[in-house]
Amino acid sequence: MNDSVSAPSSSKATLVKVGFIVIAVGGAIYFAGFRGRNEYAQLDTPDSAEPYGCVECGHVFNVTPAEFERLGKSGGIQSVREEGRRGRMRLRCPQCGKFGGAPALRCPNDGTTFASGGGTGRPIKCPKCGWSP
Ligand SMILES: [Zn+2]
Ligand SMILES: [Zn+2]
Repeated sequence: MNDSVSAPSSSKATLVKVGFIVIAVGGAIYFAGFRGRNEYAQLDTPDSAEPYGCVECGHVFNVTPAEFERLGKSGGIQSVREEGRRGRMRLRCPQCGKFGGAPALRCPNDGTTFASGGGTGRPIKCPKCGWSP
């Protein structure tokens, strides 16, 4: 009698534990998914970020569309006009504070992102493998 009662009750306890874990994990996934969707709506996800490289110090940083908008509103973007070229946007570099942020280049060999060098005459090449555009 004792055995026949204790066996199902212990398996029931295990079921309750498993059920609790499933609910906890499911809730975490739901929460993560909700967060992800919420950030996507503001286009502020790492996926939506574009790499920029500072032509002054070589610092590479990612800027999401939401950050780009914030930078534009707070004076963090300047339009630079170079002789013989059309004006281009330069973002304020978070490392050196100069307006050197230009769209970064991505190496087709190893995926390394690096500063395009802009009009500074600096040699443009991948810091990892030496690939040059
Ligand atoms: Zn910089
Ligand atoms: Zn490379």
